[in-house]
Amino acid sequence: MKMILASKNKHKLKEISDMLSDLNIQLISMDEAGLGDLEIVEDGETFEENSMKKAVTVMEKTNEAAIADDSGLEVDFLGGCPGVYSARFAGEDATDEDNNEKLLKKLEGVPFEKRKGRFVSVISLAFPDGRKLSLRGECEGVIALESKGTDGFGYDPLFIVTKYQRTFAELGSEIKNKISHRAKALKKFREELENLLGEKS
Ligand code: IMP
Repeated sequence: MKMILASKNKHKLKEISDMLSDLNIQLISMDEAGLGDLEIVEDGETFEENSMKKAVTVMEKTNEAAIADDSGLEVDFLGGCPGVYSARFAGEDATDEDNNEKLLKKLEGVPFEKRKGRFVSVISLAFPDGRKLSLRGECEGVIALESKGTDGFGYDPLFIVTKYQRTFAELGSEIKNKISHRAKALKKFREELENLLGEKS
């Protein structure tokens, strides 16, 4: 089966492709689908809204099944921020470094026990015949006092996974792809997809 991956984030593309590599799905990037210039405004208030908007927009443009991820970091001390604004926390053209710097600044002087948060990923799938799926995965952790580790992307160097007491950037992709918010959402996604495809045949 062919599916367009409705994301231009090359890190997400790699993680999702790696985690679905054993399925009988041909994952096609937006560039490969001729949608390299398509900008989708993420104006939803929830990860679910943004994720489904991306999947449906790409499905409607291509008439092929499309899969999307909307994800971000919720920090309890900041009332759940940056949340859906994670990619542009420090401004529209912010780099990962800008966002991490802003997060550390906002948490300056906040003790370790009050730095809890979680990564959230919502994976959505939209088929041209109208069937849709949306699945959420979460991973609990604590925001570090300083960046640690070199792997990954985004807030990975600041996110200490509770279970391992290491940041995602220290743990590396092999472990991250087993325990992350995205891994958990994709695990549910695989189960639901099997049900959905089973129903059709
Ligand atoms: P989106 O493209 O709106 O879903 O942006 C998600 C943003 O959340 C990314 O740009 C990162 O800043 C952050 N994010 C989401 N997932 C991860 C992750 O696995 N590691 C680190 N940062 C992440």
